[in-house]
Amino acid sequence: MLFKEVIGQSIVKNRLIRQYREGRGPHALLLSGPEGCGKLAMAWSLADYLLCRQPGDEDACGVCPACRRVKKLGHPDLHFSFPVIRKSESTTCNDYLEEWSRMLQQGAYFGLSDWIDQISSEAKSPIIPDAEGDNILNQMMVTSYEGGYKVLVMWLPERMTSSAANNLLKFLEEPTPKTVAILVSDHPDQILPTILSRTQQVEMFRLSDAEVAEALESRNGLDASTARQVARIAGGSYLAALRYIQIDNATDEFFEQFVALMRMAYARDVMGLQRWTDKISAWNRERQKMFLGYAQNMIRENFVYNFRRPELNYMNDREAAFALKFAKFINERNVVGFMEELGHVQKDIEQNVNARTVFFDAALRITILLRK
Ligand SMILES: [Zn+2]
Repeated sequence: MLFKEVIGQSIVKNRLIRQYREGRGPHALLLSGPEGCGKLAMAWSLADYLLCRQPGDEDACGVCPACRRVKKLGHPDLHFSFPVIRKSESTTCNDYLEEWSRMLQQGAYFGLSDWIDQISSEAKSPIIPDAEGDNILNQMMVTSYEGGYKVLVMWLPERMTSSAANNLLKFLEEPTPKTVAILVSDHPDQILPTILSRTQQVEMFRLSDAEVAEALESRNGLDASTARQVARIAGGSYLAALRYIQIDNATDEFFEQFVALMRMAYARDVMGLQRWTDKISAWNRERQKMFLGYAQNMIRENFVYNFRRPELNYMNDREAAFALKFAKFINERNVVGFMEELGHVQKDIEQNVNARTVFFDAALRITILLRK
């Protein structure tokens, strides 16, 4: 993968390129930042850049034999480690290379839940197992096949077993020249401090709505206005945007559920809200998170609608027709409360709190907020 295929993030790209070109790139790097901002894409591109035989000032060449092998995940000096389902004591990431390759070839924008779907039909929690720790040492402690760098890309190091972590630590403590470990983490706070202290942390931030919209147009063929609308719901995550467009008629369904919630909350129809909660709770977590993103966007749009400045609004015809009557209920007394309420729900859902309780409590608070 090339840097130019990574969406946005030009500050991080330039910084990494400069550091390694000037020979002062860290031996161990930790890329952190919100899901969907492109950390794994960045790691893969950097690996390509380091292994490319004729790297330019801004990117790997993309055509040399090394670049071609990196693209196909067949470069002997590039090793990927990632969470897997342990089948036996000897399970390593090598046992999952086919699935991993399939996943990466679809673009390096995916999350743990997508990866679990790819490798298991059951709800299991993948780890970087003990044997993978030995595997890393075996792969990284030998001299490079091609005489250049040896690169380890580890996705989600927070999921390492302690034995695997010890092996990684050995590697980090005794760096051999021209080896680079790139760790990609959603939760750096869950990584062992001894490992953290040996890495240089590079924080990546959410993408801008414009960057996500541009990517949706150029990569996914969305028209400009749909792309802009999806980008606003995705909250700076290209991954969230991808998930959103993969659901058939997501906007229609989310719109209907949003309207149902507001109507029943206004009517204080507690039985109805209970049924609504049952329905939303049956969705998977990703869908719930997307709906919450959609609902926050609708609150914002309806608040803005009151200013009568159509150029500031991004709604489709159905949403705009609803706003005609609904917008007056979203005002300066309750808009912050709404956003906070929906934000709390989102956080709870991410932390696996019982969805039924969280959504029903929120629905009840919305009945109060609507009267403010
Ligand atoms: Zn190249």
